[in-house]
Amino acid sequence: MRIHTAFALALLLTTGAQAADTESSATRIPDSAITQVTGLRERALKDDVAYAITEGLTSEIGARLAGSDNDLKARDWMIAKFKALGFDKVWSEEVSYPRWIRRSESAAVIEPFAQPLMVAALGNSAGTPKGGLETEVVRFESLAAMQAAPDYLVNRKIVYIANPGMQALKDGHDYGMAAQVRVSGPASAAAKGAIGFLMRSAGSDQNRIAHTGVTHFEDQAKAIPAAALSSPDADLLDHIFARGKPVKIHLDIDCGMDGSYTGANVIAEITGSSRPAEYFLTGGHLDSWDAGTGAIDDAAGVAITTAAAHLIGQLPQRPARSIRVVAFANEESGLFGGKAYAAQHHTEIGKAVLGAESDLGADRIYKLTATVKPEARAAIAQIAAAVKSLGVDYDAAAPGAGGSDLSAVHAVGMAGLSLHQDATRYFDWHHTANDTLDKVDLEQMRQNVAVYAIAMYLAASAEGDFGSAAGAFAKEADSD
Ligand SMILES: [Zn+2]
Repeated sequence: MRIHTAFALALLLTTGAQAADTESSATRIPDSAITQVTGLRERALKDDVAYAITEGLTSEIGARLAGSDNDLKARDWMIAKFKALGFDKVWSEEVSYPRWIRRSESAAVIEPFAQPLMVAALGNSAGTPKGGLETEVVRFESLAAMQAAPDYLVNRKIVYIANPGMQALKDGHDYGMAAQVRVSGPASAAAKGAIGFLMRSAGSDQNRIAHTGVTHFEDQAKAIPAAALSSPDADLLDHIFARGKPVKIHLDIDCGMDGSYTGANVIAEITGSSRPAEYFLTGGHLDSWDAGTGAIDDAAGVAITTAAAHLIGQLPQRPARSIRVVAFANEESGLFGGKAYAAQHHTEIGKAVLGAESDLGADRIYKLTATVKPEARAAIAQIAAAVKSLGVDYDAAAPGAGGSDLSAVHAVGMAGLSLHQDATRYFDWHHTANDTLDKVDLEQMRQNVAVYAIAMYLAASAEGDFGSAAGAFAKEADSD
């Protein structure tokens, strides 16, 4: 008994000492910074800069396919915009990648019933031979069913994956499944000898408009023509297949690789007052797919984060650290801008104290999550408390990698903050001709600006860090 008591006492003393240790090394946001955010919030909720950037990019440039003339115009436009907004530093860093171009696309059922089909070629798709290809189609319920089928069933045919349509969900989680079919389906079908690939669009709408998006071939020389059908066209094809007769399709896609291209990440900074070399990393991607004007994907993300940083730049008292905004190059065909940033800055990753990117439209932020060192959890809770009145809940148990463009930066050790937007409407329009300015709601966009401005300002004012260091979150990055 006595032994037990002594042991318990020792344990108590040890935990007490540990707690004191943790307390002294815990990251904390000073009260003076917390009081600043009331004004920041008020100004953000009246902000017109984010909407003006989105309107400007979509009206004056429009679609910004990576490597296109518009991609270059957008880069110059953004450099001029950052300068006009008074950012302290504006520069760009080169990003190289293979260029893919789309010229035309069409498809039609030939047998048993002649019917046109609405399609969109997938990024990295090969073109069909001149005049198109006309062949039998083999239908599968899912990617897994196609992968399990014997090769002779698909050899010399067009594969069609009928996968179920996506539900419109707040967290958009159906997209993961649908995007998997798009990213790996064509290469998987090609490996079995298929000469073409069709799938139901990765989208939650019933518009007769197909959703494009990237696919991936390990060896581009083995690429096959690959396209998505609009959801109503996938339904139509399903009804035709239900007759049990052989189905023949004419697929005519003119697209393909066009050498390599060097674009750039456009970067701007609001300089911090006492630790200017350290920075909060934010941004969105400047490129877009080619059918719409790239309003929600992702002019909005560039705009929200730029506007938030701009508001901080206008404060009489700057936060300790800098705010760095990156308009990333070519996110759409393989996160090239994010990877280039990680490659260029990984040796000083500790300076990127925390990162949060915006790339899911402009609808309301409803949840905050983070992947940080344990001693910084209390500071994240302080940030969460400061944005709670804007309708943002804190999920302390879930990870927060910071976003797609930041995934490579997070993987080399940057602490991440994820500000989750309501994605219920997003996948109706994502990667289609319907990605246009009218989908952006000014009041919801302003809420985004407020949440970003507060989170950036508080993190940049923190006493102590969030755990960014070489390889710090390697384990978490794997499982995110
Ligand atoms: Zn995007």
